[in-house]
Amino acid sequence: MAQVPDVGSHVRLKLTTHDGDTTIEGVVLPPAVAEHITVKLANGYNISHPLSSIEILSAEQPVASESVEFHAPSMNPDLPTVRIVHTGGTIASKVDYTTGAVTAQFEPSELVEHVPELLNIANLDVHKIGNMFSEDIRPNHWNQIIDASERAFADGCVGVVVTHGTDTLHITASAVAFAWCGKGGNPPGRIAFVGSQRSSDRASSDAAQNLISAVKWAAEGPQPTGELSDAVVVSMHTTSDDGACSIHAATGVRKLHSSRRDAFRPVNTMPLATVHIDNSDVSLNLGHHYEEARSTIQSRSAASEASRFNENIVIRQMIAGPWLTTQEIQDAVGSNVDALVIHGTGLGHLPIENPNNDAPQNIELHDALAQLNIPALVVNQCIHGPVNMNVYSKGRIQQDIGLLGHGLTSSPEAAVVKLHFALSNDMDVASTMAENLFGEQQQTILN
Ligand code: ASP
Repeated sequence: MAQVPDVGSHVRLKLTTHDGDTTIEGVVLPPAVAEHITVKLANGYNISHPLSSIEILSAEQPVASESVEFHAPSMNPDLPTVRIVHTGGTIASKVDYTTGAVTAQFEPSELVEHVPELLNIANLDVHKIGNMFSEDIRPNHWNQIIDASERAFADGCVGVVVTHGTDTLHITASAVAFAWCGKGGNPPGRIAFVGSQRSSDRASSDAAQNLISAVKWAAEGPQPTGELSDAVVVSMHTTSDDGACSIHAATGVRKLHSSRRDAFRPVNTMPLATVHIDNSDVSLNLGHHYEEARSTIQSRSAASEASRFNENIVIRQMIAGPWLTTQEIQDAVGSNVDALVIHGTGLGHLPIENPNNDAPQNIELHDALAQLNIPALVVNQCIHGPVNMNVYSKGRIQQDIGLLGHGLTSSPEAAVVKLHFALSNDMDVASTMAENLFGEQQQTILN
């Protein structure tokens, strides 16, 4: 059986398959499964083969810089230092080949070892918060990530990359954006969130390129203006092919597909930048609209501290439509929630009128909402497009009875985070929701 060369070695292998022999080349990674060799190919894909079916034709030892040292001080004085703040998710997962289940289990150092190209972009050090799937993330984890980002900048890092599950990645990224910029501040460097749709040990994984792109932005991206929702970004595949990743404003992006590699799509805006990856050639191109906007605004000066979220705030969310009843509102109010969020239909509508005289529950709902003494925010079930309560008389009635949300153009989740942020920091909720705090409302609405 073949002897596996050291991790990081460049190898040429002869593979024996059902279709005959073939030759492949790439960089040796830690094996995904016992008795296998895992190789990263030049196109970014990882493949694993049983040792019994390969012959090593040549192997070059890794160069010294590929033996990863995960703690500051920097290894390469010519490169900036980026801190990976690790929370888990599919990007840090492996397939358990006995059960087929994906479990969060990579150590952050292994994750970085799988992508040796990162070491040409930045010196990396790692702060591990946990190995969680992102559906388990709570506001206390947001605060831990905010703490970790503050510490990274205090330690001299130019940027922070947060590895995170994709399900709630845009929510946590928005929370970190509000924490740094929601009260007029701007972080001293760049913060990029990254996840992957396929675990890092799968041949079809998008993890490596998403991570390369996030580190590229964190290391070399423009200094955030703090005004264009550019202080915290999300780096994910632009299309389902390899080769380009989009850098999205945290508050203007959302996971819109459960399984595609290009699941993350901009909401009411366009990506700030694109990172093109062609083998070892990694280039960063700013979007025209972002470059233009940068030239017309005054950047905020950097602040070393961010705000935090109150972890005890309770926000109850409900969905407008045929099933929404007064009971849901009453249950919420009776259980002392701090605020309500209703996902409105269309432009942000609720079933509160009874034009046929056959739906009295709509009037009940109207009256219950009119009597609320806690903030109630309407966000958009359509995801794309604004909440606009000026178009139909329905919307005007909603505004008259005190419902908030008119004019929202961020992702719906970013709007809920903003509500949580306002409540956490004793800000006036109605005026804060109407204000554009740091560009979360300056989205480029697309038709
Ligand atoms: N459910 C996983 C999570 O959000 C999916 C992923 O990471 O992509 O953590």
